[in-house]
Amino acid sequence: MGTQSVLCSVCQGVLPATGRESYTALRGRLIVTNGYCAGGCAERLAEAERAREMARPMAPQAQGPAPVAPARMAPVRI
Ligand SMILES: [Zn+2]
Repeated sequence: MGTQSVLCSVCQGVLPATGRESYTALRGRLIVTNGYCAGGCAERLAEAERAREMARPMAPQAQGPAPVAPARMAPVRI
């Protein structure tokens, strides 16, 4: 068993135990060195990702050529 299943991939904290078999010496050591994961890391990460997407003014993958705006005609003075 690797540390991947014990540690949070976002904050590297120890994830809450999923069962009796989760309580291992390795886990105990990691709690001391890394501390616990506060939880909601994946959600926070997704939230930040979404916020970044929103902040971008224009998506690079625009579908089709942009419609050409009609040239504004200057008012003709006679
Ligand atoms: Zn975490």
